[in-house]
Amino acid sequence: MQRTRCPYFMDASALHCNKRAPGSGCGAIDGFNRSHAILGASDKCIATHPSDMCVALTALDAVIHLRGPKGERQIPIAEFHRLPGETPQVDTNLQRDELIVSIDLPASPYASHSHYLKVRDRASYEFALVSVAAALELEEHRIRSARIVLGGVAHKPWLCKGVEEFLIGKTVDASLFQEASKAAVTGSKPCQYNAFKVELAKRAVTRALSIAGGIA
Ligand code: SF4
Repeated sequence: MQRTRCPYFMDASALHCNKRAPGSGCGAIDGFNRSHAILGASDKCIATHPSDMCVALTALDAVIHLRGPKGERQIPIAEFHRLPGETPQVDTNLQRDELIVSIDLPASPYASHSHYLKVRDRASYEFALVSVAAALELEEHRIRSARIVLGGVAHKPWLCKGVEEFLIGKTVDASLFQEASKAAVTGSKPCQYNAFKVELAKRAVTRALSIAGGIA
């Protein structure tokens, strides 16, 4: 339930924040947006999801169990957090009368070949500029399946389906991971001060995959 992070949202004296005051505008879009989203943002909000845990849970296909007056329901974590769209004030698909009662982690084929990489401005007490949860299901050195999820780049943990599909059936190799990383930032739309995140995300994906694949 960690909310997205944005200095304009936290500064109560900042006049323009659609997340804090819907319809008031977004101070970050034309402001200092170094930490903001490069993927999945809208013209209403470019804040980023700052959690590490939810990024890893997304790579592991966690299932969130909810309970409310109408009973219980389950939701995959990939569908739990929301992109900002027209309603950036709503961070998740949890209804106002629901509680999270448990989280399931299904048995995973990724346990032995996975890595979480967090890139940040300083070594502690800092949120990710970019983070990557990378996991490979290997048969010898052949990739049967992969999960790549980015943190710090979008309003929710960002599932890199393009990278995952690109890797299936191929053999673990440094140049392969470098090539695959390009798909991680497909459709990215950086702002004035955060364009560096595009290259940073690609390099972080390459490095996380190389460590997960046992070649770095
Ligand atoms: S990016 Fe989102 S949270 Fe930040 S100022 Fe804009 S609307 Fe508010």
